[in-house]
Amino acid sequence: MNDLMHGQCPAKLGEILINNGHLKEKQLNEAILIQSKSQKLLGQIITDLRYVNEDIIVEAVSKQLGIDYIKTIPDDFAVSFDFLSKEYCTVNNCLILKKMSPLSTAPDLSQSILLIVNIFSTNIYKDLSALTDITKIYIATSEFILKNLGYLVEEQSDPEKYLKNIIDMAVSKGASDIHLNPIDSETVFCHMVVNGNLEKLNPISLTFFNQLKNIIKNKGGIASNANPKDTLSMMFEMGQIQIRTEFYPERVKNLTENQHKITLRLLGLNKRLLNLTDLGFDNETVELLSKIMLYNSGLVLISGPTSAGKSTTVFAIIKMIAEQMDRYIYTIEDPVEINLSNSNVAQGEINDIITYEKSIKSILRSAPNVIVIGEIRDKEVAKQAIIAAETGHLVFATVHASSSFGIIRRLENLGIEKNILLDSVRILMSQRLYNELCHDCKEYKNIRDYPERYIKDNLIMEAIRKSEVINSDFKVYNKGHKQCKTCGGTGFTQRKAVIEVIDVTDDIRLSLLKENSIFNIERSINYKTLKQRAYKLLISGSIDINQYYKIGY
Ligand SMILES: [Zn+2]
Repeated sequence: MNDLMHGQCPAKLGEILINNGHLKEKQLNEAILIQSKSQKLLGQIITDLRYVNEDIIVEAVSKQLGIDYIKTIPDDFAVSFDFLSKEYCTVNNCLILKKMSPLSTAPDLSQSILLIVNIFSTNIYKDLSALTDITKIYIATSEFILKNLGYLVEEQSDPEKYLKNIIDMAVSKGASDIHLNPIDSETVFCHMVVNGNLEKLNPISLTFFNQLKNIIKNKGGIASNANPKDTLSMMFEMGQIQIRTEFYPERVKNLTENQHKITLRLLGLNKRLLNLTDLGFDNETVELLSKIMLYNSGLVLISGPTSAGKSTTVFAIIKMIAEQMDRYIYTIEDPVEINLSNSNVAQGEINDIITYEKSIKSILRSAPNVIVIGEIRDKEVAKQAIIAAETGHLVFATVHASSSFGIIRRLENLGIEKNILLDSVRILMSQRLYNELCHDCKEYKNIRDYPERYIKDNLIMEAIRKSEVINSDFKVYNKGHKQCKTCGGTGFTQRKAVIEVIDVTDDIRLSLLKENSIFNIERSINYKTLKQRAYKLLISGSIDINQYYKIGY
């Protein structure tokens, strides 16, 4: 087994492929260079770069290691999930076959068992060493394994079935998003985001993609001739899963008309979506947010533009409270983003008759410890929230404001007195989403090569001054323009959240009461602002300068 794991030493596999005439030396060197920067196996990198098909790699590795390569399942064998679940097999790219009893259609337990593994899935080896009944190990392509697990991803005749298959596969892999990205007049790259990493699926043709697009539009209730210049957004459901879909207009090589790239975001079943770390927060922020669950009462308010992921953050905190604390939680926020099955979480209903305000009143009678009320849009809801917070409840709400301190201003504008509000506020937060630059194609740029207006920012000017002192260039990153395989040419890999968190201590409460200028408050209080956080992302190469200004201003 160890041989299988370590056997693919770069020179050997590369040599075989070069000798076969499948790979050029230049291509091998490029793959080796990429390998030195990533954890991936060389064979995987070569297939990702599309230099050599996976079946050729599998064949080469098979020869190299003396392990048979399986292309079809023998007639007297069948796929079995007695030892390993389908989810496990999907995630780890493996398959168990059992010999069928000749007299019955059911697999015969006493007969031999074959394990089929994909050469690129390394995790599996230590797990499966316990399965002693295995009589033979084969290697196969990931396509073969997925196909026999029932995921006919490569089948491109039925778009409805294809959509169901990729969504099933995404759910069993715990993926958060699926990206379909047209790159030229023929090809559409498909990726899945699993644990924040992009996983490649087989590309589909543009013709098939267009059929698929119409099916999605149909499900989301959008006209099939919707303008390709517009960004479209819709929700649809498949079984238990809600899918938020965005169509972004894109210019595509060799096509005169704009195309849409599609992002499908899986909501509901996906537990991983709700962990703070997976939202992209650094450890320090996660720690800061984790402290919130220790509070017994008060208001926790979060601001940010529409679709900045505010509810997702709130529910990630709620999930933590539900799992770790003995608290009764009541939420009247739209349940779309979560599926909390804990018995200590109850869900309220809002409709034309039961308003937010009435709902909060009735919730208080059922004596919860934690209440999630959704967005505060008017004075009445704000008042109810404050009353709840003052009577021993920890209340979470979102507010439409541009910064943490802007929340105070916004609630004042709704007619709430500042001193009353400040008595109950415990935490103020402001959140933004950003697109992380793809590490494989981002490009360096000297800050001085940007127009003057990009430099007129105090943090950037200070950094330039410092770099002048030590006589070096202050460089930032730009999104790449190459046809990159890692990000499908988008220049970005994942969407992450960045947040500023202010623990409203007595000192802060006092200066908020005295001071009216947000600018002065921000200067007098020691906390990491969104701008400082964005600056850290900028110099670490996670965002470009445009996103820096978007987050920080
Ligand atoms: Zn890239």
